[in-house]
Amino acid sequence: MESGQDGNIAALTNLIYVHFFCGVIFMNDYKYMLMALEEAKKAYSEDEIPIGAVIVRENEVLSSAHNRKEKTQLPIAHAEILAIIEACAKSKNWRLNNATMYVTLEPCPMCASAIKQSRISKVVYLLDSNSFVNKKITNEILVGEDANIPVEIVKYDDISFDKDDLKLISSFFENKRH
Ligand SMILES: [Zn+2]
Repeated sequence: MESGQDGNIAALTNLIYVHFFCGVIFMNDYKYMLMALEEAKKAYSEDEIPIGAVIVRENEVLSSAHNRKEKTQLPIAHAEILAIIEACAKSKNWRLNNATMYVTLEPCPMCASAIKQSRISKVVYLLDSNSFVNKKITNEILVGEDANIPVEIVKYDDISFDKDDLKLISSFFENKRH
């Protein structure tokens, strides 16, 4: 009887622990995506396409960046590329194994390749790319059969974000992307 009770208590403790643990992970995802969103808003205020990216490893923020194509006049100055450059400089290593990138828009194929090259383990994005072709190629690069070390890619559930912020970064694409 007693051991059964102990078993129940252990099961309950595990359950609480798992919930707590998942809760912490969820909170972190929210926190870092919010940082990426803040970066996107910075880009918007600088008349850039509003995309922000943050790279995190073991709860340490390695970099945060936003799109700076206009400012730099460089077609490769996407938020993801700039975040990778900054994270590699900070860790003095081009390998970003076990790092996660939080990005406000599903990466384009160029950034997907850079993400793969940098060995980032996971990408969490907020808004879907509105280009079916880009979406397909990005997925092929990150998780396709040829991806010997696949990069996990997940869409973040955006219900917890400020609707105005989301509208700001999504309507921008609808109006300006073509
Ligand atoms: Zn890109």
